[in-house]
Amino acid sequence: MSSSAFAERASRRRGSSLPEDCLFCKLVQEGDHVAKTDGFVAIRDINPRADTHLLVLPERHVPTFREVGEFPPDEAKRMLEFVAETAREAGLEDYRVVVNVGAGAGQTVFHLHWHILGGQIKGPLA
Ligand code: AMP
Ligand code: ZN
Repeated sequence: MSSSAFAERASRRRGSSLPEDCLFCKLVQEGDHVAKTDGFVAIRDINPRADTHLLVLPERHVPTFREVGEFPPDEAKRMLEFVAETAREAGLEDYRVVVNVGAGAGQTVFHLHWHILGGQIKGPLA
């Protein structure tokens, strides 16, 4: 198999729309990760809207939460556990978990991600 055919198949396996152009697919590979586990990373939001504002990114590219069913059940469970673990490791006891679903709800990056917001909220998410 040619390397491009291999890349295409690998990208389809991730449930891709066009992951080559996806900022969060890149950040999963080469971002500054504050936490990491198999298949998931957490990064600091570049424009924090709270004292602590982290983003949990799955390695699997699905554009929005609407496609969450593309995650195998064990992976979906591990994703939620990683959100809770990341918040705990950031020293947060009380916090918000937010997912903006669709442009009309303020989603700007079309790779599913979970906002973790702790401490004082400084501004709107959209
Ligand atoms: P949403 O608006 O829900 O799609 O969230 C996207 C979030 O990604 C926003 O809160 C942005 O501030 C954040 N963001 C955009 N680019 C970067 C980046 N390079 N590194 C970290 N966070 C980013
Ligand atoms: Zn992506």
